[in-house]
Amino acid sequence: MILESIKLSHFRNYESATITFNPSVNVFLGENAQGKTNLLEAIYVLAMANSHRTSNDKELIKWDEDYGKIEGRLKKSSGTVPLELILSKKGKKVKVNHLEQRKLSQYVGVCNVVMFAPEDLNLVKGSPSGRRRFINMEIGQIQPVYIHDLSQYQKVLHQRNALLKDMSRNRNKASDPMLAIMTEQLIDLAAELTFRRFHFITLLRKWAIPVHASISRGLEDLEIIYKSSAVDVLEDMELSKIKEGYEEAFGRVREREIDRGMTLLGPHRDDLQFLVNGRDVQTFGSQGQQRTTALSLKLAEIELIKNEVGEYPLLLLDDVLSELDDFRQTHLLKTFKEKVQTFVTTTNTDGIDHNMLKHAASFFVASGK
Ligand code: ATP
Ligand code: MG
Repeated sequence: MILESIKLSHFRNYESATITFNPSVNVFLGENAQGKTNLLEAIYVLAMANSHRTSNDKELIKWDEDYGKIEGRLKKSSGTVPLELILSKKGKKVKVNHLEQRKLSQYVGVCNVVMFAPEDLNLVKGSPSGRRRFINMEIGQIQPVYIHDLSQYQKVLHQRNALLKDMSRNRNKASDPMLAIMTEQLIDLAAELTFRRFHFITLLRKWAIPVHASISRGLEDLEIIYKSSAVDVLEDMELSKIKEGYEEAFGRVREREIDRGMTLLGPHRDDLQFLVNGRDVQTFGSQGQQRTTALSLKLAEIELIKNEVGEYPLLLLDDVLSELDDFRQTHLLKTFKEKVQTFVTTTNTDGIDHNMLKHAASFFVASGK
């Protein structure tokens, strides 16, 4: 897919801007704090209806303004699709083909993106919540129904936690039937999410392992493990088996949950583990190994999305080219040149492969213009 153009109104430090893009490479060049990342963020938000760097949508609206808007024209093999996302203090509205979509799950996934930014190192180094966010966002853009299930899960989880909190304070049996009902509801959704996540990890592994081997010149092998808080998920495990696993596990922790006044198991407590040559990269990996792992995951996603949705996503590279050594940079650019529309930010072009710049459109960014 190709993003032909974008129009911003009151987005971050952009008052208004209309930009027509090159179908292959676009370079945003400029000093620090001028609006380069903001531009990539706008593309990301247009696709995902969420920012990669904040969960507070109000931060995206230009200071002292009431609303912000991003419009884009996306060319897909099925035709051109106008997309529109309006941010206001009351929330956000999304439109596809000028028609408002009531559910985000009907919007996300029309435009696919893969972003690689310096913060992505946290995917390997950081806390489990970052890795869960990665899984949720990525599955969401290839299987919109996942977004719907996830928000249902969070709703039930919230209610169940409130009930458990209440039960831990006032110990009486009156709430038992209610807890049983909520546990059933939670298990149905938890099993569904775990099933989809596990399937996603299987796909991710399939693409990331060879990419990682190639970037590390065959010297290292990657393994990705899904760590469920409740069920030992095995390859190709059926949904019903995962559900049984949850039922058993929740039975075991029931008393502890009432003591603690909170839900102790479920996808909101799961994690991913990355091993390089059999050792946990988070704990034992060097900076370079962690970076290679994060890059492999991102590159894997590009092929994964192409395979699942039939078209290559847009690739957004925020300030990362200069951080990669020549070998990794060449690998990145060679693999996707001409197939994937790419958007790159940088403060100077010295560290960038000149073959890439030859086919690029360059945009000079200064003070949100
Ligand atoms: P760097 O090279 O340092 O990464 P950059 O060009 O990527 O710089 P951006 O992250 O795009 O910079 O941010 C540019 C400016 O946007 C910052 O100075 C920031 O203060 C400003 N900014 C951020 N949010 C808003 C907002 N809601 N309204 C107005 N300005 C904002
Ligand atoms: Mg930046």
